[in-house]
Amino acid sequence: MAFQLDKLLRPHISKIKPYSSARDEYSGKVGVFLDANENPYGSLTGEDFNRYPDPYQQDIKDKLAPIKGVKPEQIFLGNGSDEAIDLLMRAFCIPGKDNIILLPPTYGMYEVSASINDIAIKRVNLTEDFQLRVKDILEMEDEHSKILFICSPNNPSGNKMDREAMREIISKFNGLVVVDEAYIDFSDEPSFITELYKYPNLLVMQTFSKAWGLANLRIGMAFASKEIVQILNLIKPPYNISGLTQKKVLASLDKVEEIEKLVKNILIERTYLEEELNRLHFVLHIFPSHANFLLVRMNEARKVYEYLIHDMIIVRDRSKVVLCEDCLRISVGTREENELLIQALENYEPILKNQ
Ligand SMILES: *Cc1c(COP(=O)(O)O)cnc(C)c1O
Repeated sequence: MAFQLDKLLRPHISKIKPYSSARDEYSGKVGVFLDANENPYGSLTGEDFNRYPDPYQQDIKDKLAPIKGVKPEQIFLGNGSDEAIDLLMRAFCIPGKDNIILLPPTYGMYEVSASINDIAIKRVNLTEDFQLRVKDILEMEDEHSKILFICSPNNPSGNKMDREAMREIISKFNGLVVVDEAYIDFSDEPSFITELYKYPNLLVMQTFSKAWGLANLRIGMAFASKEIVQILNLIKPPYNISGLTQKKVLASLDKVEEIEKLVKNILIERTYLEEELNRLHFVLHIFPSHANFLLVRMNEARKVYEYLIHDMIIVRDRSKVVLCEDCLRISVGTREENELLIQALENYEPILKNQ
């Protein structure tokens, strides 16, 4: 059955008239702004923050589009990817009736957002090596399954998903497939953005929070058909990306090459960390990573976690997460930070032996 976006959309959404901001109603050149009840004198910050920002972040989209190989109308920008996740659920899932499909272990926000919106969750665990169970996933779909989330490279396992398996799922799933590529900049795998033209039910998410080093500013990207982007724009809060954020992101987009250098450096550090961790006797397995973190299985991970906290080093304890028994998730730091971690773990080894 061919994908029909209007069938997937919650019926009441198509009837919504968007909030029309002062700046929406007139977009020509103006000298005097008396339309939005702003403070005409400016702010006390020394910068011009008194005017409302561009609700559709057109300058960013114009600059981002050629970098990503899409049209500006195919880009949605959210207050973090987390906003896009929430908006997608509100657009497509009827509370108390519809469901989404998650593939644990995976990113926690999908479940949080679904729970807030009273949307049921169906789960199909990944395999032991964190790959997709294609048949089981497709069999899990029912008439109320509206969105399937595939995270690749996956958090917390760090691996990329098999591309052919992803293609098969996207082409056979009747709802929307969200491919979350928050960590794609750390992988040698090309983005699924290049395949958007093939799949009308595909949405690819990326973020400025990881490789771009802008987690504090809160800005995430979604790439999809212009029809899907229009729906997200319709239901988003009008000024979801602050002017300050827009300014900083715009400046960053002029420095793509420098970001690529930073990413290369993180990859060098990832290899360093992996080699050093491998020498520790209590480390059992390091999962191959396409991200800026390592999932590491070790003897009594929880104890190691607590020992590290005592040493004022914080990593993520994933030992209670399905398929991640006795695993810690460790972000790749600077060389100095990584050395401190390794040193602490080397000191821990004799303690472990003497227990
Ligand atoms: C970090 C992360 C994000 C980014 O979220 P933001 O809200 O953009 O900071 C999205 N998805 C996954 C899987 C992540 O790990």
